[in-house]
Amino acid sequence: MQSQQFEDILRSVPLMSPEQVNVLHTTLPLAANTVTSNVQAESRFLERLKFYFDQHPVCVRCRSAHVNRWGSKDGHQRYCCKDCGKTFNAMSGTPMAHLRVREKLDQYVECMDGETTLRPAARRCGISLDTSFHLRHRLMTLLENDSYGQLSGIAEEDETFFHESHKGDRKLQTPRKRGARSQRKSRHAKTEKKASVPLIPVMVACDRNHHVIDAVLKKVSTEELQSQLEGRILAGSTLCFDAHLAHEHLAEKLSLTAKTLVSSSGERVKEGIYHIQTVNAYVS
Ligand SMILES: [Zn+2]
Repeated sequence: MQSQQFEDILRSVPLMSPEQVNVLHTTLPLAANTVTSNVQAESRFLERLKFYFDQHPVCVRCRSAHVNRWGSKDGHQRYCCKDCGKTFNAMSGTPMAHLRVREKLDQYVECMDGETTLRPAARRCGISLDTSFHLRHRLMTLLENDSYGQLSGIAEEDETFFHESHKGDRKLQTPRKRGARSQRKSRHAKTEKKASVPLIPVMVACDRNHHVIDAVLKKVSTEELQSQLEGRILAGSTLCFDAHLAHEHLAEKLSLTAKTLVSSSGERVKEGIYHIQTVNAYVS
């Protein structure tokens, strides 16, 4: 509903007769239940993908960034391309388009742990073997699409830290939140010899066209980052990152324009467009 329509309804409430107010009383709880059940049915995984896309929507047909919001359908924000007229949403043209088992997706993502095969995953999620196969295929394709392509334009780079897995336990632990105190310490791990659980740095870089590169690092250094990103970010692009000497040297080595965010001081956006919120959303 347009916000103007909603405001018109609110303005008309004081003018309603007692009978009309009664009808409203009985209608609202039903509407609230519908909204709640829709929200519950939506997958957190898809919500993240949508958030990521909605930051910088681009046309699925011509890749133009000149798009208008075009209402919403089935819980997805729709867009219309100003250049070619194509309408689309965050899922259009991706392996997640027309997905029917959204409510099982989060549970299924947890089964993508490198150990759970198709049949146990199907049993755990209460879906057929066929659906298990199709969900896995879609998720694998999504990951593959995300991992290829050269970054260009405005790119973002950051690291997150995972606990080192214990022997025999190959499941990844919850990553440290970026900017967390303990993470800051771990960046200077040389001075933190007594750290009880080693943390593994994982680099994530992305651009505003949904290309993503990630890699496990031995440590956060210019050399390590350069070896992962050399030739994978178009020279002349802009790289946004959190203040860290290794990042600044990296931008210099790769002939990139550097945009440093001092997020520890609360600096989130520079010049209106430079930030690392997209990469942070991907990490989370
Ligand atoms: Zn277009």
